[in-house]
Amino acid sequence: MLMARSVLVTGGNRGIGLAIARELAAAGDAVAVTYRSGEPPEGLFGVRCDVTSTADVDAAFDKAEAEHGPVEVVVANAGITKDTLLPMMKEDTFTDVIDANLTGAYRVSKRAIKGMLRMRRGRIVLISSVVGTMGSAGQTNYAASKAGMIGFARSAARELGSRNITVNVVAPGMVETDMTAVLDDTYQEKIRGNIPLGRFATPSEIARVVRFVASEDAAYITGAVIPVDGGLGMGH
Ligand code: NDP
Repeated sequence: MLMARSVLVTGGNRGIGLAIARELAAAGDAVAVTYRSGEPPEGLFGVRCDVTSTADVDAAFDKAEAEHGPVEVVVANAGITKDTLLPMMKEDTFTDVIDANLTGAYRVSKRAIKGMLRMRRGRIVLISSVVGTMGSAGQTNYAASKAGMIGFARSAARELGSRNITVNVVAPGMVETDMTAVLDDTYQEKIRGNIPLGRFATPSEIARVVRFVASEDAAYITGAVIPVDGGLGMGH
């Protein structure tokens, strides 16, 4: 019998991260999720971790690996927005978002490859956004962090390919989570009008693509940016 793969999903206590964790667990993986606040989700192994802290990230991997073995699949999903127009954007509003979203993905990937290099296999999946390539007024910080993930992933894909480690980016469009629930109705309606499929995604529609990218079927995909955006970002 094949051993369950050890998987770690950051920000796996709600939203897209939780859907990814549940999807991979249902597919037979041994899944650990990180949670920053609140409680770990029921039925999943939870480790507390703030991805802006290297010590937290290292400790979370140590705990997940003690429970499930070396992490074979990592999903860097934890992320935040702090939207404001550029003239009003304070430096820490910019750097906080970069630190959580982009430097967080670096911290998580760096720790993950320790075991992957030894095992000579691994899957790194970074959750970016359609905004990383399209841009979005009021989101210079967020868009920069999400675009940065693409350059990071493609460089890492070149470094790690010979070790059978793939590094890919999944770029969701608008997804029904707490992150988009805060947008006012008129704005949501306006965005919906620009989405060819005419609706937001459910978290599990993102999770199913992540499951594929992390699977054996995607063994020959690396350095890819996979849009899951209902057509919103076509051509970008
Ligand atoms: P949510 O706001 O619903 O959840 C965010 C998750 O990230 C939470 O688990 C949160 O933990 C965690 N998190 C945030 N900051 C940190 C941190 N410093 N350390 C550890 N965990 C942290 O977001 P979504 O589920 O909507 O988004 C998930 C990812 O998908 C994000 O990277 C986001 O940018 C991206 N995305 C989302 C889209 C959308 O439309 N929703 C579209 C495109 C991309 P806690 O519960 O403690 O706050």
